[in-house]
Formats: sequence, structure tokens, C-alpha cells
Amino acid sequence: MIDRSRIREIRALPAGKGKYVLYWMQSSVRSGGNMALAYALAIARTRDLPVVTCFCIDPSYPEANLRHFTFLAEGILSAGKRLSRRKIPLVLRRGDPVKEISDLARDAALVVTDRGYLSYHRRCREALARETGCPFTVVEDNAIVPVERASQKEEWSAGTFRRKIGGLVPFFLDLPADAVSVRKPPDIDGIPYRDVKTLIHSGIDSTVGPSPLFRGGEDEARRRLEIFIKDKLPIYPSRRNDPSWDVLSHLSPYLHFGNISPLECASRVLETQGQGTGEFLDQLIVRRELAINFVHYNPRYDSFQGLPSWALETLAHHARDLREYTYTARELERAATHEPYWNACQNELVITGKMHGYMRMYWAKKILEWTRSPEEAFSLALVLNNRYELDGRDPSSYAGIAWCFGKHDRPWPERPVFGKVRYMNAAGLARKFRIDGYVQQVEALIEKYGIPGRE
Ligand SMILES: Cc1cc2nc3c(=O)[nH]c(=O)nc-3n(C[C@H](O)[C@H](O)[C@H](O)COP(=O)(O)OP(=O)(O)OC[C@H]3O[C@@H](n4cnc5c(N)ncnc54)[C@H](O)[C@@H]3O)c2cc1C
Repeated sequence: MIDRSRIREIRALPAGKGKYVLYWMQSSVRSGGNMALAYALAIARTRDLPVVTCFCIDPSYPEANLRHFTFLAEGILSAGKRLSRRKIPLVLRRGDPVKEISDLARDAALVVTDRGYLSYHRRCREALARETGCPFTVVEDNAIVPVERASQKEEWSAGTFRRKIGGLVPFFLDLPADAVSVRKPPDIDGIPYRDVKTLIHSGIDSTVGPSPLFRGGEDEARRRLEIFIKDKLPIYPSRRNDPSWDVLSHLSPYLHFGNISPLECASRVLETQGQGTGEFLDQLIVRRELAINFVHYNPRYDSFQGLPSWALETLAHHARDLREYTYTARELERAATHEPYWNACQNELVITGKMHGYMRMYWAKKILEWTRSPEEAFSLALVLNNRYELDGRDPSSYAGIAWCFGKHDRPWPERPVFGKVRYMNAAGLARKFRIDGYVQQVEALIEKYGIPGRE
């Protein structure tokens, strides 16, 4: 049973029209644990109709490059294979999703889609609903607690949000079974999913290449989840912040592309009832869904002006403070600073497509410290994050960067440049962690893979 609060009927289904139920896969690139698909199958069964799944590759998707498209394509291949075992076709289109999905919707009894939270997703859904006039339902399956159910407003901090969402989580952990399609699908005008790689080799930004370490797809997501549970979860509380240890789950790219359901991750971890469960779920649910709350309720989530007023005031007050070092965008992108820890994490990002979580905080704080103005720092951090991180362009990208500029945090003792925004320094890294070990690990990565764009 899918909880009613996950389902939003934009236009209701009239009786007796259409040849199939169309599932427009947008943010949940998976076959398993996909509630939008489960909903489409359930409706199709009541109407004795087949289900057709479609994904539209949009070459002009904001800030997407070959790194992201490759991971996406791997996820599509994996989902397509699994769907075909369930007798559900996955066809592809390339171009403007509104135009392409409208075209497929002409013969559909109903269009069902999953829910992305960024303004791009919202715009596409609204335009599709407006332009096609087709019956249309959105099913929210990439948050454990649906965003409006968790809170009716933009939350102030993890503390305020935790109090609201904590008690709701147990009511939202049910995943529907992965049903098969009952009816033979019709022939649909689209590109077979197997040919996905041919769709991503022209007309896209190919200046950032694929990650040598992360491959997309459902199987890979589950493999990483199981490794995490077996080998890392018990030491997650004590070691997760230390960049010289590999104890993170590495699930963020898979969650970002919808290759795995957050409900599945939470349920599997809860089954263990072992050490680390609470700490991990706090990140996966409270932190991740606080980011969703932020982008859902704050229309300026991607701009400096979206920061809280206390942070804007204090950063403006210190905007002209003397900076000991300033670097250009190009120097930062090329990791050409005086500081080896920062250079290491920037190189880790450029090479692998995933920077360690703790270093992400340090990284963005230093961009604030080393650029000419806080506005410039904010937009540069966002550009670099979204260009290189596989999990970039996610609600957590915007919340993560904004946190480094005061969002969801509180004022701290005042100091130059940062004002009352929390400060971090290299001495703290050296005191708390084996930070030289981390730098050596990144040097080994450089040795093995080189640094793309800098050969
Ligand atoms: C400056 C900055 C930029 C960031 N950019 C991104 C980004 O582009 N994409 C992204 O997904 N996350 C981002 N984060 C949040 C966090 O750093 C990553 O989610 C985390 O490092 C992902 O690695 P993991 O899955 O191995 O983490 P794990 O520690 O194994 O965490 C498990 C899951 O919990 C969630 N999570 C963990 N920490 C956070 C957090 N601070 N905020 C929100 N969710 C969290 C993620 O979904 C993650 O996959 C950013 C944080 C900062 C400070």
C-alpha cells in the first residue's frame, strides 16, 4: 500500500480512454523499490492496461556533463534489464522532456511520474501537465517522509526538523512489492534502453569525463549498501568524519540518480539493529530530507540571497575585510593554492567525482575565505560542486554549500571575513585526523589516474 500523502493527482483519470499507463521515469532510475512504478502498475491492473516506462535524456539538463550522463546511462541500462524481466518496457527519448513525454502521452490513459525537488523538475512537471492536458499523477518516492508531511514550512535547523520528522519515520518505511506487468506492451516509438550510450556522446558538455571509481546502477547501489552494512556501519559513528578512513557508504550518487530507494537503505540498516544505525539514519533521513525541505520551501535555494538574514548581514559586514590569500576560479579549480589539504580534496573531487563528506565542509569554508567576496565564493563553490560531484545538482548540494555560509547553523563568535559564520582551519584537521594519510591517498589517486584536464 502506498501512503496517500505520497500521491498527488494533478489531473484525475477519466474512464475508458488510452492504450497504456505511461510511467515517466525522471528522478527514480530504478526498477526495484520504485513507488511511482508500483502505482502505475496498480492502476494499469484495474484498467487491464499495459505499463510503458520512458526516460527522456535532456542534453541541456542544467549543469550536466559527461561524468553525470555516463553514470545516468549505466543506471538506465541496469534499470532497463531489471524491468524487462518484469515484462515492463523502458524506452528512451532524447530532447526536451516536455515535448517528448507529451508526444508519448497522446495514447496514454494516465501519465505517472516520480518526484524531483529542484526547480527544473517542478518546471517540467508543471509544463507537461499544462501542455498535454493528460491525466497526470506524481508519486513521491525519493524521500522517506513526504516533504509536506514532514513539515509545512522551511525549517530553521537540523534540530527543529529532527523533532518533527523523527516520530513520522516508522510510518513511512513500507515499500511495495515489485510486481510484473499483466498485459503485453504495445510498440512504442522510442529508442531501446540498450542504446542509451549512443544518446550521450554528442551535444553534451564532455569536458568532465566519467569517474574511474563509481559506476551507476541498481546492482552497484545494492552492492555498496551491503558492503557498508557488513564492514563499515559499526565504526561509522567514530570514524565517519575522518577523511583518511573509508567508512562512508558512498550511496549519495546512487541516491541522487534514484538508483536505490532511501527507504530500502533505511530498512536494510534498521534490520541490523547494530551499532551505527542511529548515526547513519540521522544523515540519511534528517540531513538529507532537511535539504529537500530547504529546496522545496526556499525559492532562492540556489542563490546567495537564499541564506538566512543573520548570515547575509554578517557576511556583508565583513565583505571588505582583508583576505590573507585570494585565488581566482581557475586557480581553485586547478587546486593551485598554498594549502595541501585543500588541494588534496579538490583533486579527489576532480578525479573521482566524490569528495569526502567532512572535507566538503572545509573545502567550501576555504573558498569563502580565499575569494574576493562572499557572493563570488558562494556561486563558485556551487559551480565546482555541481560540475565535478557525481551527486551534485541535488538538494543536498544546495543545502551543503549554504550550510557553509550559515544556513541551518547558528551564529558563532565573530572573526574577520567569516563574521559570525562558523570557521574551520587546517590546524583543526591536523589535530583531529591523520590528515597527512588522506593527502597521501589522494597522491596515490593522482599517480594511478592522473588529474583530468591537467595532463
Ligand atoms: C559543501 C558541501 C557540499 C555538499 N554537496 C553535496 C552534493 O552535491 N550532493 C550530496 O548528495 N550531498 C552533498 N553534501 C552532503 C554530504 O557531504 C554528502 O551527502 C556525503 O558526503 C555523501 O557521501 P556518502 O553517501 O558516502 O555519505 P554517508 O555519510 O554514508 O551518508 C549517507 C547518506 O546520508 C546523506 N547525507 C550525509 N551527510 C549529509 C549532509 N550533510 N547533508 C545531506 N545529506 C547527507 C546522503 O544522502 C548520504 O548518501 C555536501 C555537503 C557539504 C558540506
